[in-house]
Amino acid sequence: MNIDLHCHSSASDGALSPAALVRRAAERGVDVLALTDHDQLEGLAEARAAARTLPLELIDGVEISVTWRGLTLHVLGLRIDPGNTALAAGLRAVRAGRLERARTMAQALAEAGIHGALEGALRHADNPALVSRTHFARHLVEVGVAADVREVFRKYLVPGKPGYVPHRWAALGDALGWIRAAGGQAVLAHPGRYALSTGAMEGLLVEFCAGGGAGLEVVCGSHAPDQYALYGALATKHGLAASRGSDFHAPGEGAELGTLPQLDARLRPVWRDWEI
Ligand code: AMP
Ligand code: MN
Ligand code: MN
Ligand code: MN
Repeated sequence: MNIDLHCHSSASDGALSPAALVRRAAERGVDVLALTDHDQLEGLAEARAAARTLPLELIDGVEISVTWRGLTLHVLGLRIDPGNTALAAGLRAVRAGRLERARTMAQALAEAGIHGALEGALRHADNPALVSRTHFARHLVEVGVAADVREVFRKYLVPGKPGYVPHRWAALGDALGWIRAAGGQAVLAHPGRYALSTGAMEGLLVEFCAGGGAGLEVVCGSHAPDQYALYGALATKHGLAASRGSDFHAPGEGAELGTLPQLDARLRPVWRDWEI
């Protein structure tokens, strides 16, 4: 089975509408797809309606932005109940500061000589409440500031660069609590992306497990193949299930839906007890 448990639609920073995303996944042979937009659930209804006529099972998901020891982490919630009020209220609070942060980012970029970035980013954002660094990056590529989205991030949008604005997202314990309240399983997304020492990663995983975390994303678009083994071993060590997700955002931008290697057969997949 081709199971892809991490991707984005235009409800957050993906380029395709939820319906187009689901159709693309089915065309590429994905059997089970979780839509995991950042900090909101608005794309799920459209995705579900589109999945109804396709040989694809849709999983309701979300990717929550978290601040842990000053670092931004992403926690996926899989099989959440989209109608849960605790989760909805939590996500509303996480989203609240995004537009203000975007204004501050635009000011910072203006000081670096790049003007009009807020208007440009908003033109790329279907949902202004979810305006993200990705929307800024697409605009900056369009106006020729950099060749591609990755280069914009490297030069402007990561800590230490002129357009980076620190932001306080959800507390880890809160995000885990909302996911559990909504009946979902929490998976720590792309652990290889966090600038953590071995000891700090251990500390994070201990805290993640204590808060009710269920899984670790082992095979994902931002991991190099040698990291699959490393994070697979960490999942096993901490009794966490393993997950696989492309983190697809747009055609030609990062990993494609359903194309990554399968999980190592020795790992316990997060979907083991799902009826799929
Ligand atoms: P935000 O939530 O506004 O901070 O934006 C985070 C999003 O930016 C992530 O979900 C990714 O889609 C994207 N992103 C973060 N780092 C990079 C990077 N180095 N290269 C490309 N995209 C990135
Ligand atoms: Mn994203
Ligand atoms: Mn992420
Ligand atoms: Mn993602």
